Amino acid sequence: MSQSHRLGTRLFQRIRSSAALAVTVLLLAALLVTAQQPEKTLVFSNVGVFDGSRMIRPTNVIVRDGMIRAVGADVAIPTTAQVIDGEGKTLLPAFFDAHVHLGATNAEQFLKDALDFGVATELEMWGSELSLTLRKKLAGNGFTDFADLRTAGAGITVPRGHPTQMGGPPIPTLAAGDDAQVFVDARIAEGADYIKIIYEHAFPTLTKQQLHDVVAAAHRRNKLAVVHVTTQSEARDAINAGADGLVHIFADSPPEPGFAELAAQHRVFVVPTLSVLEAVTTGSKSWWQGEELSRFVTPSMQGSLDRKFPPGFGAKLKFDHAQAAVAALHRAGVPILAGTDAPAPGLAHGLSLHRELELLVNSGLRPLAALASATSEPARAFGFHDRGRIAPGLRADLVLIKGDPSSDIRATRHIVGIWKQGVSHQRTPRKD
Ligand SMILES: [Zn+2]
Repeated sequence: MSQSHRLGTRLFQRIRSSAALAVTVLLLAALLVTAQQPEKTLVFSNVGVFDGSRMIRPTNVIVRDGMIRAVGADVAIPTTAQVIDGEGKTLLPAFFDAHVHLGATNAEQFLKDALDFGVATELEMWGSELSLTLRKKLAGNGFTDFADLRTAGAGITVPRGHPTQMGGPPIPTLAAGDDAQVFVDARIAEGADYIKIIYEHAFPTLTKQQLHDVVAAAHRRNKLAVVHVTTQSEARDAINAGADGLVHIFADSPPEPGFAELAAQHRVFVVPTLSVLEAVTTGSKSWWQGEELSRFVTPSMQGSLDRKFPPGFGAKLKFDHAQAAVAALHRAGVPILAGTDAPAPGLAHGLSLHRELELLVNSGLRPLAALASATSEPARAFGFHDRGRIAPGLRADLVLIKGDPSSDIRATRHIVGIWKQGVSHQRTPRKD
């Protein structure tokens, strides 16, 4: 190789490497710029806002990086923002369903179904190991196609107590003489977010002392204790035992004088689950048929909508009693939380929440109070500080609907768009 050739090669290599360096520097600079550039801003303009307790209208809501950044009629709208015209529409915090079950087979689909109907947070009131695994997985960000999940995991029941009669994998049970604290601690170690107790005398159930001990054991670990009851006397026992919430209302008798006041004095919240009580007492109504939202019913939802409670089940219950109890509790200032008990027969994740809201209004809640029962009230009761309201700094879990649900609660069924952590959730109509 001649010297001039070698020089030429070296020169060429140097030029090449400096060109590569330049390209690398440019790429790095571009990457840095991209990294520093905020995610595109999303603006809901001129929109009615239900902020979790009241209506603000019309106003603008600014969303960036998955969070609500500003709310106000005079906030600056960046020129590059994606603007959604909110004229004639209402923006709400995405809904909670404060009483669901995922079961052991369809769990992920149920969480997708829920989000399709604007439910971005589901509170499971008894779940399998699968729920506990899913709950941990969803704790990370980025699962914007699923509702978020909290679960009681396996609840607290006694040998042969509800729901051991339903079959399925064996359930740990609290036997006479077992240490309530050890039992509760085991559920917490498995990943339970709160402690769900089955206090139901149609089956063997906890004694009053056990009920008291389990509630105290949960509180010792700073966990909420919520109780499944079906009768007024069970409801009183649960309240007197110090429970934080009832996750059904009773339908066996009209509310006795003083019942609602007892609940108010003890500061319990109540998830009445009127949807499931309607299905038990009067047979589920096909209220969704002919509604715009029926186009989004999935096969998994259809399966549970078509199922029926066995004949005679709940024969002693009256839906009127449940509604009267909800009315009395609400008048006494007891927080009411919207929950459905989906996928019980006749109910479906997501869809049934809209019926629950209507049933709450039929039981004496004003539409604004019903909307709070599915947003700010469950957030407060279950200690979520990051959602359930529309305010700067909160998650952009949002539902945009056509119309004004503060005057007609059924407007919640006209969903225009759903966002989870600021990401638009695309739902596909199954039927036309
Ligand atoms: Zn349930």
